[in-house]
Amino acid sequence: MNNLYFQISGLFALILITIVYFSKKRVDTIETRLYAAMLIVSFFAIFFDILIIYITYIYGADGAMLLLQILNKFYFCFLLLWVYIFASYIFNVSFDLKEKNFKLHKFLRYIGIVIYIISAIIIFVLPVYIYDKDNIMYSYGPSLLFLLIMASIQILMITIFVLIKVKDIKNKKYTPVYILIILMVLALVMNRIDPGVLVTTAIITYINLVMFFTIENPNVKMINELNIAKEQAEKANLAKTDFLSNMSHEIRTPLNAIFGFSQSIEEEESIPDSIIDDVKHIKMASNNLLELVNGILDISKIEANKLEIINNEYRAHNLLEEVVALAKGRMGDKPLEFRTNFDKSLPEVLYGDHSRLKQIMVNLLTNAVKYTEKGYVEFKVSCVRKNDVCRLIISVEDSGIGIPKEKINRLFTKFDRMDVEKFNSIEGTGLGLAITKKLVELMNGNIVVQSEYGTGSTFTVAVDQKMVDNKEYINLDNTIKLDLKNLNFHDKRVLVVDDNKINLKVAVRLLTNYGVYIDEVDSGQKCLDKITNGEKYDLILLDDMMPKMSGVETLKKLRKIEEFKTPVVALTANAIAGMKEKYLTDGFDDYIPKPIDRKELNRIVVKYLE
Ligand code: ATP
Ligand code: MG
Repeated sequence: MNNLYFQISGLFALILITIVYFSKKRVDTIETRLYAAMLIVSFFAIFFDILIIYITYIYGADGAMLLLQILNKFYFCFLLLWVYIFASYIFNVSFDLKEKNFKLHKFLRYIGIVIYIISAIIIFVLPVYIYDKDNIMYSYGPSLLFLLIMASIQILMITIFVLIKVKDIKNKKYTPVYILIILMVLALVMNRIDPGVLVTTAIITYINLVMFFTIENPNVKMINELNIAKEQAEKANLAKTDFLSNMSHEIRTPLNAIFGFSQSIEEEESIPDSIIDDVKHIKMASNNLLELVNGILDISKIEANKLEIINNEYRAHNLLEEVVALAKGRMGDKPLEFRTNFDKSLPEVLYGDHSRLKQIMVNLLTNAVKYTEKGYVEFKVSCVRKNDVCRLIISVEDSGIGIPKEKINRLFTKFDRMDVEKFNSIEGTGLGLAITKKLVELMNGNIVVQSEYGTGSTFTVAVDQKMVDNKEYINLDNTIKLDLKNLNFHDKRVLVVDDNKINLKVAVRLLTNYGVYIDEVDSGQKCLDKITNGEKYDLILLDDMMPKMSGVETLKKLRKIEEFKTPVVALTANAIAGMKEKYLTDGFDDYIPKPIDRKELNRIVVKYLE
C-alpha cells in the first residue's frame, strides 16, 4: 500500500495547480489551451491510478482481474494522451505554424488525433496482466509494451523538435522537456531496483508543475494596456494621414495659381524669350513640388492600406508616349542618349491601372536620368502573351553611378537614400522606389534590380495586364489635336464655381483663350441661385471642397432641377488616384485635377462645347 502516497500527494498537488491556473486570467493561445487539456488529462490519469491501486489492495488482483484490466487500459489511454498533448505543446513552441501555414497546422492536428484514436483502440485490444504478490503490484503485457513504444516515439519526436530548434535551446519553454528526460532516466533506474515503485504519476505532476512556471502566459493587464497604446498609435497615424491629405490639398491651391498663370503667360504672344524661359522653369519647379506632394500622399495611403488599383481600358502606345515625353523632359540638357525599344507586338488596348503603371515607369526613368551623368538610359517594353493576358516586361537600364551590392536590399525602403553625402546635390525624398515596389506588388507583379557600382543599373518590372479586343476603343482616337484658332466658342457660356478667388481667376484666365462667355461664383449656393434664376450654361466647372455646400452636394441639388441638363465637370485639388472614378460615380460628367493642365482643359472644352 506504500505506493499510494505518491499518487495521493500527486493528486493534491495537481488539484492545487489546476485551481490556481484556472482562477488566474489567461490569454487564450494554443499553448495555454494545450496546457489546460494536460491538467485535465493528468487528473483522470491519477484518478485511475489511485483507483487501480485501491481496488488491488481491497480485492487483490485475482479478485477483480477483469475490472482491473479495464481500469488499467483507461489509465494507459490517459497517459498516452498526456504525452501526445505534451508533444504537440512542444511542437507549437518550436514551430509557429498557425500563423504561417494554417492549413498544414490543421492537417497535422487531424493526423495526430487519428493516430491517437488508433493507438487507444490498440491499447484496448491488446491484453494486460497484473502482477500482485508480497505487497508488490504492477502491470505488464503487450498493452503496456505498446503504450511504452508509442510514448517513446512521442518523446523521440519532442527531442527532434528541440534539436531542430537547437538555437533556442535556452528557451525556458523547453525546460519541461529536459526535466522529463531526466525523470524518465531516473524512473528507469528506480524500476530496475524496485519494480513495485510506480512513479509515472509523480513525473506527470512534476512536469505539470514545471510547465505552470514556464508557460507563456502574458499578463492580461499588460495586453490590455498594449491594445490601448496600439489603438492610440493607429488613431495618431490616421490623424497624420488626414493631415497629409489636407496639406496636399492646401498646397495644391497655390500651386494651381502658380501653374495656371505661368501657363497663360507662356501662351501669350509678344513675350520676350527670356521671360518664357523663366516661366518654363517656374512650371517645372511647380511640377516637381506637385510630385513631391503626391509622393507623400501615396506613402501615407500605403501605410493606411488605402492604396487601390483601379483598372480601366487604356492604349498602351499612348501611355508609353506620355512616359517618354515626361522622361525626356526630366533629362533637361543632360548629355544622355535616351533609347527606347518597344515590342512591335504590343497590344493596342490593355486593361489595367494605367496611371499607376505610368507612375512606376516614370519613377524608374526619373531615377535612371537622375543618377546617370553620361552615357545612356534605355527604356524597353516587351510583352509575353498567354491566353488573354499580356505580361508586360518593362526594363530601365542606365550607365549611371550604380548601386553598391550591400545596399541593394535596402533600396525599396522608404526615406532610405544611398550615399546621400556623396550625391547630396541630387535631390529626392527616397520615396520613389518604396512606392514603386508597393504598386508593383499591388498589381501582383515583380520588380528586380541588377546593378554594378560605378557601371550602371537595370530595373526590371513584370506585370500582367489583360488584353482587350475592343474595336470601338481602338477606333476612338482620344488624342485630341486641337487647332484652337479654327474653333469658335463665342456663343458658349461657361460657369466656374470655386470658393477660392485666386483659383477662380486662374480658371477664368485659362478659359479666356477659347473665347467663351465666362461667369463665376464663389459658392455652391450662388451656383444654384443662378440656375434657378433661369441662367443657361453649356458647361459648369465645379470645385468640390467648398465650405457650407460641397461640390458633390451642389451637384445633387442641381440634378434635382428638372430642366437642368448642363454637363458638370469636377474641378478639384483632390487629385489622388481613384478620385476621378469617385467623382464620376458621384454624377459628375468629367473631372479635371488642379493644377489645371492646358491639355486637359482642351479635352474638356472640345468634348462638351464643340
Ligand atoms: P524620390 O522619392 O524623389 O524618388 P530618390 O530617387 O532618392 O527620391 P528612390 O527613387 O526611392 O528615392 O531611390 C532610392 C535610392 O536608390 C536613391 O537615393 C539612389 O541612391 C538609389 N537609386 C535608385 N535608382 C538608381 C539608379 N538608377 N542608379 C543608381 N542609384 C539608384
Ligand atoms: Mg527616385
